[in-house]
Amino acid sequence: MDIQKIGVVGGGQMGSGIAQVCAQAGYSVVLVDVSANALSRAHDTISRSLARLVKKAALDSLQADAALERISSHTELGALADCQLVIEAATENWAIKAELFGKIAEVVSAETILASNTSSISLTRLAATVAQPQRVIGMHFMNPVPVMPLVEIIRARQTDDATFATIRALTGPLGKTPVSVNDAPGFVSNRVLMPMINEAIFCLHEGIASTEDIDAVMKLGMNHPIGPLALADLIGLDTCLAIMDVLYHELRDSKYRACPLLVQMVDAGQLGRKATRGFYGYES
Ligand code: NAD
Repeated sequence: MDIQKIGVVGGGQMGSGIAQVCAQAGYSVVLVDVSANALSRAHDTISRSLARLVKKAALDSLQADAALERISSHTELGALADCQLVIEAATENWAIKAELFGKIAEVVSAETILASNTSSISLTRLAATVAQPQRVIGMHFMNPVPVMPLVEIIRARQTDDATFATIRALTGPLGKTPVSVNDAPGFVSNRVLMPMINEAIFCLHEGIASTEDIDAVMKLGMNHPIGPLALADLIGLDTCLAIMDVLYHELRDSKYRACPLLVQMVDAGQLGRKATRGFYGYES
């Protein structure tokens, strides 16, 4: 499949990053979000990110301007009609993604590849929501997308070899390194990472150490570049909770129960960097 135009659905922190790397690689990008505010924030985020690359001499200003011009923003899914690939990067919620997959499949051609950037949800179950489920695949980018080299590629049980080959080949022009994993809750990345973050939250909840000290132990002692609580703030606490809930319900093992403090912070809207508060403050 020759891919020229890529749709990205969901213009939050992941969708904006995915749109940026696709545009930098020369693809036309159709970015869709239900929220016009999210689209305007995505445009600002991408502009700032490209400007940083120009400052670092990783891009010249003409290339940055051209990349930005390749991205068009829309609030209606109909804009995806002539995309050869759609990457869904909406909120980590089964009902939202299942409904979106059905609606996207109605507007694109039967050959369009439907990828999801889900952190934990079953690709096999998502594939089952559309006709031609062999074209559904997981493309799990890491945050921040323009910086992190990994893309986990997840084959649904129904994914065919042609879809897999096209998506694997696409990671090269995007400047990413693919790692193929089977469809299982949280794949490899979040099966390993999220329980560690959840345990760090339990350490805070049980008063074992302060936020700063928990992060310091993992940075200075385990050579992690960022502490688990700062990383939870970067990912978004709502996304962390959604992933823990998928691990808990799908694997049916109490070791994956979300820490009550995580649940309470999400209830309070303390979602991390994308709000003004998480484990740290971001007012400024
Ligand atoms: P986010 O909260 O920053 O953005 C989600 C966006 O989806 C919002 O702009 C929202 O308006 C939009 N949205 C919600 N419902 C929609 C709909 N029906 N149609 C179109 N847009 C809709 O979330 P995020 O961090 O960008 O996460 C997006 C996806 O990427 C999730 O599946 C998440 O699990 C996954 N992911 C997140 C990270 C991370 O570190 N945050 C890393 C890898 C993967």
